[in-house]
Amino acid sequence: MQLKIYNSLTAEKEIFKPILDGNVGMYVCGPTVYSNVHLGNVRTFLSFDFIYRTLMHLGYKVRYVRNITDAGHLTDDGNVDNDRFVKQTRLEKLEPMEIVQKYTVDFHKVLDMFNLLPPNIEPTATGHIVEQIELTQKLIERGFAYESNGSVYFDVLEYNKRGLNYGELSKRNIEELFANTRDLDGQGEKKNPQDFALWKKASPAHIMRWNSPWGEGFPGWHLECTAMSTKYLGETFDIHGGGMDLKFPHHECEIAQGKACNDAAPVNYWMHANMLTMNSQRMSKSTGNYILPMQLVTGDNDFFEKPFHPSIVRFCFLQAHYRSVLDISNDAMIASEKGFIRLMEAVKVLNSITANDEKPSGFSLADWKNKCYEALTDDFNSPILIAHLFEAVKYIFALNDDKETISTVDLEDLKSTLNAFIFDVLGLQNIEENNNEKLDQTLKVLIELRNQARKSKNFDLSDQIRDKLLAEGIELKDGRDGTSYVLS
Ligand code: AMP
Ligand code: ZN
Repeated sequence: MQLKIYNSLTAEKEIFKPILDGNVGMYVCGPTVYSNVHLGNVRTFLSFDFIYRTLMHLGYKVRYVRNITDAGHLTDDGNVDNDRFVKQTRLEKLEPMEIVQKYTVDFHKVLDMFNLLPPNIEPTATGHIVEQIELTQKLIERGFAYESNGSVYFDVLEYNKRGLNYGELSKRNIEELFANTRDLDGQGEKKNPQDFALWKKASPAHIMRWNSPWGEGFPGWHLECTAMSTKYLGETFDIHGGGMDLKFPHHECEIAQGKACNDAAPVNYWMHANMLTMNSQRMSKSTGNYILPMQLVTGDNDFFEKPFHPSIVRFCFLQAHYRSVLDISNDAMIASEKGFIRLMEAVKVLNSITANDEKPSGFSLADWKNKCYEALTDDFNSPILIAHLFEAVKYIFALNDDKETISTVDLEDLKSTLNAFIFDVLGLQNIEENNNEKLDQTLKVLIELRNQARKSKNFDLSDQIRDKLLAEGIELKDGRDGTSYVLS
């Protein structure tokens, strides 16, 4: 079955042909680590986690690069003095790298909670200043960039004069762009308002600064991603992803930089994940319409009636296609919880089913598998895949009620296929098993503490541990091989 990917550049679903057979190079724009990620950010990273998992499941060897933007991402108004890191540094009275560290750690914790796999390489912008300076120099040498008052700008008009097409990804026309741009950033320094900064001169108040051939400054955000993606994946690589809102100007600028540097398009397939909305409005920190992942998981919020396990949130996200808008609501979460529980129930029931080597009457395993793979390879269609999983769920419950039959070979095949789809590809986690595991670990810690108390003859404490556990229905049994526990 051939994998089809919707390419934002051509606005078409295309058959995926990797540059190197069987290998995929994929770059996804990472977070700007100046504050906590909100649930909307998580949706985009989760969409690409599912894509990454699917590619691996389909047999590709993937090099997945996702950066950390820890310098140079200006505020949306383009004013350098409003640099997100510098602003947050003032607010929190911390060093810029303390801000970066604090929110990078938070980002990893959050993604871990939703069971996202780490990328193969996670480069930082501040770790690639040299590469960014080199690219800027190359662009000046090739006549695509100019220095002005200690900053360097990309010359968009020159790019278009040479027959290249600025606006090809976002389908914008350069004349319209010129007419509609307010020149807030780099006033009086740029030749044209659409020219974008490759390197910015640091004002005296700017703390994050590096030496360069143009004086002290810091790199432009767009250039960071060009430097890091091409360094680890080559001048042209297979897939570049990010949220829909990054198409313009961020990704448009990446295309321009790549073509101007290397005379080749940097990316073969551009993939854009759609937004998470709440109250039908895009989730965003700046408007205040957002929820932090932890608030949803602990229930510490006014929007949802109860807490939800991260795996249920994950399941809810995957019930929408990555290119569709998803509106998160209490009802949507409750419905996802029901579906999730039923799915996990089926996994459990399937383990207790015995084969009877008769032909099933209403279910064909081969057809079902085919349909699942069709959904996966049709631009990573997770909602259709999930719909097919529920056909299998129905069949499993029918088997359990002795209303259906299955052969030994098919039973093993169904088990391994279903587990692969649910746990490897969708990345869901079985809550019950997880909780049991946690309880087991906790009880082992308590038994160890009790043993230590007994060794140091603190029988008061050791008895207390035993009695309090017994009151909770957990009986400790001391035997020759140590202490075990029984749940009543
Ligand atoms: P940022 O840290 O602002 O660069 O954003 C990190 C990622 O989150 C980017 O890929 C954005 O496109 C994405 N993003 C921001 N808001 C939302 C949202 N409401 N829904 C989905 N993705 C979002
Ligand atoms: Zn980027």
